[in-house]
Amino acid sequence: MNSDAENQPDTQPTTQTEPPNRKRARVDSPEPPEPKRHEKLWFEDGNVVLQAGDTMFRVYRGMLCNASVIFRDMFSMPQPPEGETIEGVPHVKLHDSPWELADLLDVLYDGKQFVKQSTKPRWTVVQSLYRLGSKYEVLDLRDAALHYIRRLHLGTPQKRKRLYDSTTSPVIYEPADIIAMANLIPEFNIGKVLHVGFLYACCQLTVKELLDGIPHSRGYVERLTPDNLRWCMEGRANLIVASAEMVNRCIIGMPTCPHADCSRILRHQITQEGHSELLYNPNPLGFWEIPRFQDRYNELKSYMCPACLAKVQTLFDTRKQDLYLHMDQYFKLAT
Ligand SMILES: [Zn+2]
Repeated sequence: MNSDAENQPDTQPTTQTEPPNRKRARVDSPEPPEPKRHEKLWFEDGNVVLQAGDTMFRVYRGMLCNASVIFRDMFSMPQPPEGETIEGVPHVKLHDSPWELADLLDVLYDGKQFVKQSTKPRWTVVQSLYRLGSKYEVLDLRDAALHYIRRLHLGTPQKRKRLYDSTTSPVIYEPADIIAMANLIPEFNIGKVLHVGFLYACCQLTVKELLDGIPHSRGYVERLTPDNLRWCMEGRANLIVASAEMVNRCIIGMPTCPHADCSRILRHQITQEGHSELLYNPNPLGFWEIPRFQDRYNELKSYMCPACLAKVQTLFDTRKQDLYLHMDQYFKLAT
């Protein structure tokens, strides 16, 4: 999916736009909104105006050329004499998200906050730097972003909680960003294991969130790509079955207890009416750890003898490790 086209920035010389009279004749397509100046990235002495979507940035060509060979090539091409200008400086339209271009320019012109080791970057900034750093070949920023993306690797089942824990996650993120993470990894072919980890995280979203997306605080709705949605729907169903199978296997694997009827207690507590969510949920790796089931687990633990409790924990841990190692099969990802 990482096509060559993405590496070739799509500039749209304003001279190629349609004549105004023809534009006005199109009554069925409303005029795009008047572009607005970015409140921070508009320098009065800037010598180029970049526009992405409805946002314009007045910045410095020299700094762009210094950071990016793509911008250097773009600006080295002779500008058409009749090209559009804004306040006398060239106006270049780019086919990028205004949010992402703002993030890239912000780091280029005021990058100190990104490189500070003491502060975690926001996921949105990491994503912007990776996507546009790749497109415009700002390789140091792309690689810095990749460093953070790889640190999101969920690693072993024991470490996978990192992503959900704001104190240990390497980036600051909000729920909608989980979808963006799942979308970015296959777009750039960053790694299958990482992709599967984010698909698993997406499977913990509600079906409504999977289908309709999640509103982002930046004002857009983050939605899964059609491929990711298909993998998640497939994976969610398979993970629910895997949860039930894991519980069944662990119940069957319990030894006879000399102290109490621990095996029967385990079976009864998990399978009794009203507890079916324990059996049928898409988070088998989180069994014993899912906060909303904690009371039920604690109740269950209080009925069993310590030896059986230790045995059942080992059975679940072994099964979880096995599930984790074969996780890609649950999503039926093409190899
Ligand atoms: Zn026992």
